[in-house]
Amino acid sequence: MSEHTILEAPERVLSTLNKDGSRRWLRPRLSKGPFYHQRFWVAWALILLFTLVPILRMNGKPLMLFDLAAREFTLFGSTFHATDTLLLMLLMVGILLSVFLVTALLGRVWCGWACPQTVYMEYLFRPIERLIEGDHLSQHEMDQSGAMGGRRLLKQAIFIIVSAFLANTFLAYWVGWDTLLTWITGSPLEHWGGFLVMAITTVLMFADFAWFREQTCIVACPYGRFQSVLLDKHSLIVAYDARRGEPRAKLRKEDTPRAGGACVDCNHCVVVCPTGIDIREGLQMECIHCTQCIDACDSIMERIGQPKGLIRYGSQHEMASGERRFLRPRVLLYPLAILLIFGLLVYNLARREDSVVTILRGLGTPYSEMAGGEVGNTIRIKVDNQRGVDRAYWIRLVEPAQGRTIIPSNPLPVPAKSMATGTVVVIVPAELFARPGAAAIFEVSDSLGFTTRVRTALLGPDAAGATR
Ligand code: SF4
Ligand code: SF4
Repeated sequence: MSEHTILEAPERVLSTLNKDGSRRWLRPRLSKGPFYHQRFWVAWALILLFTLVPILRMNGKPLMLFDLAAREFTLFGSTFHATDTLLLMLLMVGILLSVFLVTALLGRVWCGWACPQTVYMEYLFRPIERLIEGDHLSQHEMDQSGAMGGRRLLKQAIFIIVSAFLANTFLAYWVGWDTLLTWITGSPLEHWGGFLVMAITTVLMFADFAWFREQTCIVACPYGRFQSVLLDKHSLIVAYDARRGEPRAKLRKEDTPRAGGACVDCNHCVVVCPTGIDIREGLQMECIHCTQCIDACDSIMERIGQPKGLIRYGSQHEMASGERRFLRPRVLLYPLAILLIFGLLVYNLARREDSVVTILRGLGTPYSEMAGGEVGNTIRIKVDNQRGVDRAYWIRLVEPAQGRTIIPSNPLPVPAKSMATGTVVVIVPAELFARPGAAAIFEVSDSLGFTTRVRTALLGPDAAGATR
């Protein structure tokens, strides 16, 4: 064997890999059938929704905001803090179970109809590509010539502009629309950190939609990999009816009436597939249920005067036996579990305190030794007022009994739906640090009936002078 002999894999590894391991670029042909048009309206409604969700407000808050810096998630008017462990856990489990249920019933309907990757790729980036470079054949020609012509450069320039728009949409979910607006309207020099985040996100978006493309679905997204666990043989999938289609054979004029199966082996279902697979080989991990093969095959069936639906929505069981079965244990158990989880979530949300108090250490030196043998600790108390009215919070030291406090702002005013941080200096006798475990307990309350206690460790010198 020569040094450069390429060992061929015994079977297909990936639909987008050539035998030598290089990328097989897909230039799918477009099939504009009924499903394509239905998905078009859904896609553009979703693009509008994805753009507006971080801008629209509910209860004075964005519909969705994942504020990592403040460790807060806002969903439909409710803010979840990092301390809302139970609520966050219920929310995550509820979402996961809903994904399980939808997948068990409707297969990868999310991937084909609603995932931003598919929606933007198929209804924004590819239409721009076809408009500038022409159809799949002309794109293939450009690939083969290898030249980066003017049209391809123009396409990349437009892709960068669209990617910048998407990057802004994406970032609005993480930094909030108001912050993003200041980044967009201000000079990059004033917000160089924000500008850098925006530039990097734009580059990532461009790399995804211009270069990585279907690889995101095939190799990067974990959802497709879980499909074998989440689907069962009764789930609705895009499937080829092998009982009707096989044995496949090319259509020839002399074969009238036609013998064999309905599949005329025209390959249309393959050339339209955005992940490069052949649906006739059965359910595959790469299939994102985009319905392009249904549209393509139906148009062929129509042309040759055969009933449509050789490729259609159906279950594996239905394709094999002709029978449909909807009810099965998971279809009953998932909704019950979802009801229970979301019921618990709503109950706990209703009971949740409308103020969140977080205790933080003061900035600077850990403690200060004062005249008269006393030790001072500076503590910060952050109060999040989640109600729509301005409130004032009283801070009182409960323990240690021998301690006293200096609180410059008591009560602490906190405007509606805002946070404020108050500073408290706790002064305690140095003897308190003779034994480890010195701590302070504060009571924070307001006139609307809210009261809570928070605890924090106190620092000071032990008998030997070391910090304790
Ligand atoms: S097999 Fe059909 S439904 Fe699946 S990704 Fe390819 S074209 Fe879309
Ligand atoms: S488009 Fe239909 S007829 Fe043509 S190869 Fe695919 S399944 Fe067969």
